[in-house]
Amino acid sequence: MPRHVHVIGAGLAGLSAAIALTQTGCTVTLVEAGPAAGGRCRSYFDRELGLRVDNGNHLLLSGNRATFAYLDTIGARDTLAMPAEPQFPFIDMENGVRWTLRPNLGRIPWWVLSSKRRAPGTRPSDHLALLRLRRLNGEVTIARSLRHDNFYRRLVSPVAIAALNTPLDVASVPLFGSVMAETLFRGGRACIPAVPREGLSESLIDPAVAWLQAHGCEVIFGRRVAGLRYGNDRVIGLETTEGPMPVEAAVLAVPPWAAADLVPDVTSPNEFQAILNIHFRIDVAREPPGFIGIVGGTAEWVFVKRDHLSVTISAANRMVDLDAEAIATSVWPDVRTAFRLEGRMPPWRVVKERRATFAATAAQEKLRPGPRTDLPNLVLAGDWTATGLPATIEGAIRSGRAAAEVLLAT
Ligand SMILES: Cc1cc2nc3c(=O)[nH]c(=O)nc-3n(C[C@H](O)[C@H](O)[C@H](O)COP(=O)(O)OP(=O)(O)OC[C@H]3O[C@@H](n4cnc5c(N)ncnc54)[C@H](O)[C@@H]3O)c2cc1C
Repeated sequence: MPRHVHVIGAGLAGLSAAIALTQTGCTVTLVEAGPAAGGRCRSYFDRELGLRVDNGNHLLLSGNRATFAYLDTIGARDTLAMPAEPQFPFIDMENGVRWTLRPNLGRIPWWVLSSKRRAPGTRPSDHLALLRLRRLNGEVTIARSLRHDNFYRRLVSPVAIAALNTPLDVASVPLFGSVMAETLFRGGRACIPAVPREGLSESLIDPAVAWLQAHGCEVIFGRRVAGLRYGNDRVIGLETTEGPMPVEAAVLAVPPWAAADLVPDVTSPNEFQAILNIHFRIDVAREPPGFIGIVGGTAEWVFVKRDHLSVTISAANRMVDLDAEAIATSVWPDVRTAFRLEGRMPPWRVVKERRATFAATAAQEKLRPGPRTDLPNLVLAGDWTATGLPATIEGAIRSGRAAAEVLLAT
């Protein structure tokens, strides 16, 4: 078992690995290229808007067990806002119909029998289609495996596109099945939505960095690892922008494109999907936080923050090259309708995460490696490793723990 481990990358996977290693008594040095931790899940001050914003809206579900265990460790569970029961408000832009999806808390899904709890225009029997998905293999796409009816349009599409960040005509059924298995199929108690009260960094990132520092971990920002040094079939050092660093063992917790540069033998996903977030500075005079799902619009989800409304569009490769103003203008009418607002479009900011996640397709799934590499003292972590989940916070946190366990077992 190594005594000192270098963790490369302070996204959620790296933070989770660093915490797991620290908990077992290892000394950990966390090396991050950026000026702050968080990677694809972070908050920052946007000068143009004059607001602190998240790089993108993130939704957690109470069934994300590793994430809640992580939050408990870093003492940040209370920084999330969660209703007592699952509630997913929606509006259909084609006809203005509003509804709230309300699965019951227990395991027996009697909510599908209640027209007040399920999406309008759907039948209880439609929901059985989700169970059938479990029997399909990875080559079948979600779009091909279900009838394109109201159930597909008003429940499957918004949920699956958000969970997989992939167009449903190419998205892998098993990855959606694993999300369902850990949430909806476990009953409403596992699908209570949770969002940060303040921001992503305040909930998921800053308390983790503080926990690590309080437990003796050295956290270094602004140091990019540009190469690995090898000797005797092991990794023996890091080439960094600030000079070489000798290492005893390392966790590589960088995005797949960075891992492929550093360890060319590793296979990794190489197709990505963008996510667009459009922040509108507006005093919504509503109790934040909250969100609404939009069916049949350009916006897909709108999150309510204290001082802004924030739109998410997933699987957004089709839109990512559009001019920012064109994007903001195209989603504003959906926001105005959903929140019954009047007046002109307020100050806005479009954030384009071009490689937000790998594309959750059958072909990409085959490229996801486990935590082990050919070297006994180098392991991999990241939402793109073979977690069995799509690229999510839950997957990233699990991957960090898995990498730490493999390293500790050597
Ligand atoms: C806009 C958006 C919305 C999302 N919404 C959701 C959601 O609603 N729910 C959900 O569960 N998930 C969501 N996700 C996915 C989630 O954010 C990711 O799965 C997760 O943050 C990935 O964490 P990671 O640690 O694997 O990778 P990253 O966050 O990419 O972390 C990798 C870190 O490595 C650092 N690094 C890279 N190269 C080097 C190097 N050479 N040397 C040192 N450091 C390096 C990077 O700077 C970064 O900090 C969303 C993602 C985006 C972008």
